Amino acid sequence: MSKPFNPFEMAQGQFDKVADILDLDQGTRELLRWPLREHQFAIPVRMDDGKVKVFRGFRVQHNDARGPNKGGIRFHPHETLDTVRALATWMTWKCAVVDIPLGGGKGGVICDPHHLSMREQEGICRGWVRQMAKHVGYLQDVPAPDVMTSPQHMVWMMDELEVIHGQKEPGFITGKPVGMGGSLGRTEATGYGVIYTVREALKLMGLTPKGTTASVQGFGNVAQYAVQLFTQYGGKVICVSCWDNADQKTYSFRKMDGATFEELIGITDKFGTVDKVKAKTLGYELLPGDAWIEQEVDILIPAAIENQVTGDNANRIHKKVKIVAEGANGPSTPEADRVMEERSIYLIPDFLCNAGGVTCSYFEQVQGNMNHYWSKEEVLGKLDGIMTNAFYGVAEMARTKRLFTRDAAYVIAINRVASACRQRGWV
Ligand code: NAD
Repeated sequence: MSKPFNPFEMAQGQFDKVADILDLDQGTRELLRWPLREHQFAIPVRMDDGKVKVFRGFRVQHNDARGPNKGGIRFHPHETLDTVRALATWMTWKCAVVDIPLGGGKGGVICDPHHLSMREQEGICRGWVRQMAKHVGYLQDVPAPDVMTSPQHMVWMMDELEVIHGQKEPGFITGKPVGMGGSLGRTEATGYGVIYTVREALKLMGLTPKGTTASVQGFGNVAQYAVQLFTQYGGKVICVSCWDNADQKTYSFRKMDGATFEELIGITDKFGTVDKVKAKTLGYELLPGDAWIEQEVDILIPAAIENQVTGDNANRIHKKVKIVAEGANGPSTPEADRVMEERSIYLIPDFLCNAGGVTCSYFEQVQGNMNHYWSKEEVLGKLDGIMTNAFYGVAEMARTKRLFTRDAAYVIAINRVASACRQRGWV
């Protein structure tokens, strides 16, 4: 029987490969292969039927040598400690590659919000904070929304911490609604960040988005705003794909003269599913779900879920494709990486490409701590600056050391964290 996929083993494997490239000493390796701290706790909640149910909660703090830990809290029935460990580790590298002064964290609760009332979910949020109050806050660890948690969950959590501490602490948590300490620009941040890096990768090739074409997997938060900015820049998106829950399958929607955000958003539900009947009336061709990958375009943007560009389908990438920009987390497998590297496709790796989200969350935290909020233009301008700098850091490392871009990004991130640990005298 084959071993089940363990994301933490994968995260450690990626780290080991780069630790070898960097020739890291044994102590630093041992420190960075594992989280610094792991919290596991019980959250008793009185349910609507009057009985008490005990939920299991987690918070993993992978490394805070560069600043307070940062990362989301997931509500999922199949949450495991190893998933949370892997995600916390990746957050450390993501914050380091864009050079924001934060470490990596992730949290979770084993629960299924589909079967919980809002009052019960509030109980879980407040219970999570009561267990973790000593170990979180803007100077220690800053949570955010993630799978099945929303701005409402963040406000409940902030309120609970403020009640415990007897003071206002909006910088404790990010992803809050605008007007309750949230940042303008957060909705656009991840998708726009993807396109800032695409724009710079095109520049390296002597091109601009104007006159180029793209095909996108997914049409949720990341993909929608990637499509919006790319078309604003003059690029043409000819294909998007999505999951259709009613049919339990995926579809691709193609329009050779260009899909637009404005047109598609009006026929897309809150889960990122495009209405296929309305799409047809707007002139879209309905194609199989995996057709997005074989389109004759300059740029592919996988922005849906993990494990989508694999050893089985990477050879279907059209020979015209110059750039793969990973909007999603972990969309490509190591086998797909090898194909892309051999074919000299320019990969913008996930933890660089989609770091616009955490960067804007960092801005939210800074604004909350100052109790002074920036305009959307100011937020997006600062975001562009950080993403562009990070992109060139990775591009330069890849060029000078002749590394695949994913390895180059890891080299930069791990080096920064290792160096912070050394400067602190930890290793
Ligand atoms: P979302 O839930 O808003 O949208 C997901 C989209 O993917 C939907 O359109 C859905 O229909 C589609 N989809 C799901 N399975 C698919 C499949 N097999 N084929 C084609 N389409 C499929 O999610 P999101 O917030 O846009 O996140 C997308 C990815 O980006 C995830 O990997 C997420 O972890 C990552 N990410 C998101 C953010 C953020 O700020 N939202 C930040 C960093 C990384």
